[in-house]
Amino acid sequence: MSPAVPATVPAATPTRMSEAERAAVDEALRRVAADGPWIGGPEVTAFEDAFAAYLGAAHVVGCASGTDALVLALTGLDVPAGAEVLVPGHDGGYAATAVRLAGLVPVVADVDAATAAPDVATLDSAASRAPDACAVIVTHLHGDPADLTSIDPWRRQRGLLLIEDCAQAHGAEHGGRKVGTIGDAGAFSFYPTKNLGAIGDAGAVVFRDPDAAARARSLAQYGWGERYRIERARGRNSRLDPLQAAVLRARLPFLDSRNSRRAEVLAGYIRAAPGLDFLGGTGVAHHAVVRTDDRNRLAAHLTRAGIGHDIHYPFAVADMPGAGVTGGPTPEARRLAGQVLSLPCTPELRDDERDAVIGALTAWSPR
Ligand SMILES: *Cc1c(COP(=O)(O)O)cnc(C)c1O
Repeated sequence: MSPAVPATVPAATPTRMSEAERAAVDEALRRVAADGPWIGGPEVTAFEDAFAAYLGAAHVVGCASGTDALVLALTGLDVPAGAEVLVPGHDGGYAATAVRLAGLVPVVADVDAATAAPDVATLDSAASRAPDACAVIVTHLHGDPADLTSIDPWRRQRGLLLIEDCAQAHGAEHGGRKVGTIGDAGAFSFYPTKNLGAIGDAGAVVFRDPDAAARARSLAQYGWGERYRIERARGRNSRLDPLQAAVLRARLPFLDSRNSRRAEVLAGYIRAAPGLDFLGGTGVAHHAVVRTDDRNRLAAHLTRAGIGHDIHYPFAVADMPGAGVTGGPTPEARRLAGQVLSLPCTPELRDDERDAVIGALTAWSPR
């Protein structure tokens, strides 16, 4: 007889929703499909307004993805072509990609070993090698707010624009303010597995300055001023799909309770496995990340127990051949890339699935 195949706990559950959320999404889809418009229109504006109100943000501009949101943050803020932009050394390479797409030069900063994010020391060291730096992108990685208490005054003193990458941190707060509203711009992705997810690609960028928001809105539609007249260089087509806007507005009221469930799942893991080194846990628990020198053995142990897992991220940005970053070296980012492993941590994880993860963590014996 073959051994029983363990039930699998998925690493991510983007298509699961509560019945109430599913009904709201179905109604949104039906409404847009039946009534249109299918590009732009009131559904897009209604979501932008609802998300601005949720964040306490002045201006929200919807766009086609989180990567485009970062590009529109840079071009909307008028970072001059060819300028350098500081990016995190361990973020999956998203910031570097956007910087290159915007016609700018990404300069990589190493990370602090404890938080996996750049701190003032690593940013300052990167900035000293980037005389033409105009901006810094800070990522609220794994849902944990970056240390803006020290980074914000540092970048002001350096005269750098601050762009927050909030793709993993919808609803997270720093000093009583929602992330994305603290810097000059905040970029959000609504990729399906994000804390607030569409049913496809979508994004949004948040600004304090109305002129920057107006520029980004124009740049997201070819750089048009009046219709069919390109007024601004560096434009593109990056519109928020009204179908996705309607889905996002339907899902927004569920975000806070879903974030609480994520945090509860992560806190349960941390309690159950005090011997494991978890990253963060201070924010909206986008990922539940452990750091271990014994990752291969832990991954094999989880696989045997039927527990899905992932690695965020397996490569330091400076080690990605196509990222095209300058700066570095980033030894901590490289070390982290070899140590991190993400456990299932989604709001729709069932209690029995969470308990299976806890069981596997409890049964894990570090060397
Ligand atoms: C997902 C993600 C992005 C990119 O978002 P897309 O919508 O996939 O373009 C950018 N930054 C971070 C930190 C992300 O997690």
